[in-house]
Amino acid sequence: MPAPMKGLLQPTIYRFQFGGFEVMPIMDSKAIRSGLTPAFGGEANADAVKALAKANRIDSDRYEHPFTPLLVNTGKELVLFDTGNGSLRDEYEQLKNRLPPGNLVARMGELGYKPEDVDVVVLTHGHPDHIGGLTKGGKEVFPNARYVFGATEFDYWNKGENIREARKLNRELYVKIVVPLGNKATMIKPGDEVVPGIRAVDCFGHSAGLMAFTIESEGKRMINWADTCNHYVVAIQRPDLQLDVDDDKEKAVATRKRILDMVNKEDMLVAGFHMPYPGIGYIDKDKDGTFRWVPHSYQMHL
Ligand SMILES: [Zn+2]
Repeated sequence: MPAPMKGLLQPTIYRFQFGGFEVMPIMDSKAIRSGLTPAFGGEANADAVKALAKANRIDSDRYEHPFTPLLVNTGKELVLFDTGNGSLRDEYEQLKNRLPPGNLVARMGELGYKPEDVDVVVLTHGHPDHIGGLTKGGKEVFPNARYVFGATEFDYWNKGENIREARKLNRELYVKIVVPLGNKATMIKPGDEVVPGIRAVDCFGHSAGLMAFTIESEGKRMINWADTCNHYVVAIQRPDLQLDVDDDKEKAVATRKRILDMVNKEDMLVAGFHMPYPGIGYIDKDKDGTFRWVPHSYQMHL
């Protein structure tokens, strides 16, 4: 009897040491999306994006889109950045084909942690794939955690002014899931410290108040840039292209350029929510000024 085929198997949990911290990117889920164009850069740049995909040996249309919350154990506190998709697709018909079911809690279990163990939940911003796992059936998924939300992001969704059509459902979700927890959350702004070693960075643009977070321990420094760049080829090699998912498109472009430049100059390790799993890498800069994603190999294992 020939052995049966078992299908694609790919890693969904990962842990490495960073100074005195342990860092764990967890793949909550992933989607295979079609339409690298016009999502990235619009119709006007479709040919350029297709050529870029070809030059980087990836499909010019379909792309893998992972959702990767980041768990950090500082030795004193267990800090979770973002919560994945949770069960949003079961609760909202409109999201059925858009968001896969979340697996964050199960995969956190494989790493040896229960939801009760999480001390701090930080939301980088309020898009569905980041807030979806915060509650389930109206109940908090991380019952012992304190919450850290960005003040600008919270105000934006809470007030609900000038929400574009494509984000109307997002606003509904934010008001239902995040706003009720606002009174017990710490509201922070760029530059504020979350816990010792973890500090917020202004990445406004992709959403009104998106924040990245530097993670620093024993002289090592990395950044969790969340959704600052949403695709490892297009958004990094062409940070100037406007994206359909960016809420303030011009500000998002300026932010991408600023953060890519900072990360490259300071030689920082990056964790990115939508980078190819485990979403850990570096940013190189070619002689012509083009930035490139360099996936982490074993630098953190030595
Ligand atoms: Zn996202």
